[in-house]
Amino acid sequence: MSLPFLRRMPVHWKITSAIMATTVIVLMGAYAAFVVLDTATFRQELIRDRKGFAATAASNVAAALSFGDEDTIQSNLSSLASVSDVQAAYVIDDLGLLRGSFLSKFVEPGDIREPVDLPIEREGGASLRGAFVMQIPIVVDEEIIGALQMRISSDRMEQRAEHYRRLGMMILLFALAIAWILARSVASMVTKPVARLNNAVSHVRDRRDYGLRVPVASSDELGRLAENFNAMISEIAQRDATLEETVQERTEQLFLTTERAKAASRAKSEFLANMSHEIRTPMNGMLGMTELLMKTDLSARQRDLGNVIMSSGASLVTIINDILDFSKIEAGKFQLIDAPFNLREAIEDVMSIVASSAEEKGLELVVRFAPSLPEGYIGDGGRLRQVITNLVGNAIKFTEKGSIRVEVDGHVAAGQGQLTISVTDTGIGIPKDKLEQIFEKFEQGDGSSIKKYEGTGLGLSISKSIVELAGGKLKAKSAEGDGSRFFFDIKLPVDETAEQLNMPKDTMRGLSVLVVDSKEQSREVLEELTGSWGADVQTAYSGQRALQMMKRNPRPDVIIADYDLPDMTGDDFIDAMRDDEVSSDRPLVMMASPDKLGEPVRDEGMTAMVSKPYRIEPLVRAVSEAMVAAGTEQGKALVESGRVDENGKVPVREEDTPEEADGTGIRILIAEDNRVNQLVITNMISGLGFDIEIADNGRKAVEKFIEEKPDLIIMDVSMPDMDGLEATRLIREYERRHEFGRVPIIAATAHAMEEDRKRCRKAGMDDYIAKPLRQDAILAKIRHWLQDQMAA
Ligand code: ADP
Repeated sequence: MSLPFLRRMPVHWKITSAIMATTVIVLMGAYAAFVVLDTATFRQELIRDRKGFAATAASNVAAALSFGDEDTIQSNLSSLASVSDVQAAYVIDDLGLLRGSFLSKFVEPGDIREPVDLPIEREGGASLRGAFVMQIPIVVDEEIIGALQMRISSDRMEQRAEHYRRLGMMILLFALAIAWILARSVASMVTKPVARLNNAVSHVRDRRDYGLRVPVASSDELGRLAENFNAMISEIAQRDATLEETVQERTEQLFLTTERAKAASRAKSEFLANMSHEIRTPMNGMLGMTELLMKTDLSARQRDLGNVIMSSGASLVTIINDILDFSKIEAGKFQLIDAPFNLREAIEDVMSIVASSAEEKGLELVVRFAPSLPEGYIGDGGRLRQVITNLVGNAIKFTEKGSIRVEVDGHVAAGQGQLTISVTDTGIGIPKDKLEQIFEKFEQGDGSSIKKYEGTGLGLSISKSIVELAGGKLKAKSAEGDGSRFFFDIKLPVDETAEQLNMPKDTMRGLSVLVVDSKEQSREVLEELTGSWGADVQTAYSGQRALQMMKRNPRPDVIIADYDLPDMTGDDFIDAMRDDEVSSDRPLVMMASPDKLGEPVRDEGMTAMVSKPYRIEPLVRAVSEAMVAAGTEQGKALVESGRVDENGKVPVREEDTPEEADGTGIRILIAEDNRVNQLVITNMISGLGFDIEIADNGRKAVEKFIEEKPDLIIMDVSMPDMDGLEATRLIREYERRHEFGRVPIIAATAHAMEEDRKRCRKAGMDDYIAKPLRQDAILAKIRHWLQDQMAA
């Protein structure tokens, strides 16, 4: 039976109800059988007994009936009054007529007083309410002449049954009471130990108290269950104790192993850092010297060989820098600095660096910098540039044809730029199952591609760490053969004071610009950009189409065209434009790769060349100048605002013009222990006529400082005997005591990390320059610090 309510019923109720139900069913069954049997017997006996009287009476009245003597019949019937239970007696003749009757005084007035109609030929009987009837034929000479009918009361029988009913009920109640007591005690014998066990299990589970034992109250199955439970708990307690010991032992072992591994890893990272640092010093010499060598008179072949040395050296430095970064990240010593930088410029720098390798493979470079975004931010511009360089470098490496697109999109909220920076290529793509792995150190997308594409597998891992330190996450989307997209979101505070390189929003409002470019992406970016300046933009994908459009109204005020058009070269386009009367006076800004630059400037002022991949600044300059040249109102407004001078030229930014300065009479002290480096620096700066002194270590540097009073010191940080930091401290101390003016000290250090810079600043240094030294960098620093003397 699986009635749900039965399943829910507590066990003790199940047992109790089973016993009670059995008791009731058995007792009721037995009782009913007994009563039925007894009543039947009683009735049989009564009938048999009364039948004797009836037969006697029938034979007594036989003669009287045959003679029709009704008085005798009546008196015979009256004698039946002494027989108990007889209610009535009748004599009926063979015609069914009543010939005599007797009614007991006990017969109630409402009772039936008539004989029951039964056939007289044979003996018969019938049951009435409270009585039963028997009929005996009256025979004379074997002929039936009538019948005697007798009604016998069944009252006594019913009284007897009532008596039994009461007795039965009492026995039943008594039996039920006994059964109840018995059932409860049996139920509790089963349920109590089970409940105890149940409580014990809950207790152990909740409190983990394995000391608990349940009493064993019987030796039946329940008793054994309790014993087994106790045994199981002791076993668990014992195993727990052993387990704890084992765990403790293992934890200790693990701790030791981890510590050892950490120490090993630290040692490895330190070794790597030291090694790469050590390698950078001779690299410094090699690259510096080669740079100088390349500036001497060389044959074409020598120049080629020199270029190979330069480019191999440069890639070696990149690898070493990667390893150094990597070991810093591993050692947790990698930090980002916060400084103002121009994000658009950083990306343009990267594009300029990779331009030639993209050009070699015929790849189109596209930069989209959302025009609504500010350009200046506070953050680690150098590291961000490293990430973008890495992503764009990979994109070029793994793309054979198509384009590389760098995009900066986002918005500004509460002074923070929320930026998404992405690099998308149309290259070989990355299989889905490798997408996660490539961010692991030393992981390359395809083991077999190592031969085809060189690399260390460190770039993405470093980039990922940098992006994470900046609070973002570097992700990739790609499918094999379908190009890749690397992207990350970062938040950078906007540098409110930064100068925007892009043209202010509505500078070209009211002017019409025609953009001519066959490449869809470049065309769209230019369209968006010029649109953001307020211009009304039209686009053309070919030279012919552009020439036709120039004839339409409104005529474009400025034309921006790509040199590589599908139907003509940039030169032919200029010729066609200038030969046409309608367009001959339109200013043209032409964008071309550097090898095509500078050749066809036919009409001064009307055709400006911008090198590709274009940077925003030269483009803005060319367009501004074109606006002035075209004599537009908007151009005049630019002259009035001072953005363009009266000759129609935009003043060039200072850093862009490395003016050749004169260093005669200026004394520079170089503190450097490495002979090669001494030579490199000396050679790099000697061209400007400086008076150069060399000191081999910090102590000598201090002595030379006191003797020579140089105008500037370039100080190596790590030197034997006395390092650069200590030497600087002594020099500053000397200056203070002797009320000397402060001499600029520039640290030359391979440790270009923020922490190292802080140490330098703390020691009293003014600036730093990263090794390996590059001529332009070192000259820029000297120029910066000696501006006044050198201008004089
Ligand atoms: P490396 O380029 O030195 O091998 P990276 O960490 O920069 O190391 O890249 C790891 C791997 O990720 C590469 O070897 C290459 O398989 C895959 N990968 C990275 N960028 C791209 C890309 N733009 N297209 C296809 N595969 C790429």
